[in-house]
Amino acid sequence: MDVKGLAAVVTGGASGLGRATATKLVEAGAKVALLDRNIELARETAKALGGDTIAVEVDVSSAASAEAAFEQAKAKNGPTRVCINCAGIGGSGRIVDRQGKPMELDHYRRIIEVNLIGTFNTLRLAAAQMAAQEPLNEDGIRGAIVNTASVAGYEGQIGQSAYASSKGGIIGLTICAARDLSAHGIRVNTIAPGIMLTPLLASLPEETLDMLGKQVPFPKRTGHDTEYASMAMELVRNDYMNGETIRVDGAIRMGPR
Ligand code: NAD
Repeated sequence: MDVKGLAAVVTGGASGLGRATATKLVEAGAKVALLDRNIELARETAKALGGDTIAVEVDVSSAASAEAAFEQAKAKNGPTRVCINCAGIGGSGRIVDRQGKPMELDHYRRIIEVNLIGTFNTLRLAAAQMAAQEPLNEDGIRGAIVNTASVAGYEGQIGQSAYASSKGGIIGLTICAARDLSAHGIRVNTIAPGIMLTPLLASLPEETLDMLGKQVPFPKRTGHDTEYASMAMELVRNDYMNGETIRVDGAIRMGPR
């Protein structure tokens, strides 16, 4: 699928992996809407990216907020043909802490709501806009969706029960959504990144970053946001990629801690 002239939505597009992908989409000629909770940063990013890039405030975990944001993006750039789901949050905590106290259920619920329900929420709205459009080629493709899981969806570490569950849910959703949306000519793929150097990680001390990088078999470093973005673009462009979750992780397999 050639993205030139098409409308693309990037959730979490203000920062990190979403921003890097939005940059490549703009370079490829797409009209990009950055949907993010951090509207100030999204506006700055939209300005830096230029072109038709717009910033729209959203909380992906809210049905009403996401519905309004997708309508706003459509009114400005046209119906969504590409949706990159990068909005997400971290958070850690043991199921039972050292004092014997069980994890607050709201901690678990919030991470599931943003990462898993948030991804499903924007996937369903993007898919509905795509399904209402004419096919773009002889295969009948109407649009492509890329979600963001994590290697934690396969090997969650101690303290990552909520995050790992949310990302494992996205991995499970991928083949199901691809099958479900196949009748509409919509492809769905997911990237499971390893340890990527985004603003989230950049705040860690240099020794910690070095230590994290050394756990990666090759290359022995944290991943670049552009390496994620490059895979996201391939998953959008390559019409035979569907229903797959791809690790972009330098072959890291996370240990228990
Ligand atoms: P980031 O913090 O730089 O970007 C995440 C963006 O999501 C932010 O702009 C934030 O404002 C936005 N966001 C958060 N909650 C939101 C909500 N409720 N509604 C709308 N927007 C919201 O982080 P990143 O490293 O670029 O992460 C992007 C995605 O990649 C996340 O889903 C994260 O779990 C996943 N991931 C990151 C790494 C890594 O090492 N950086 C590894 C694996 C997976």
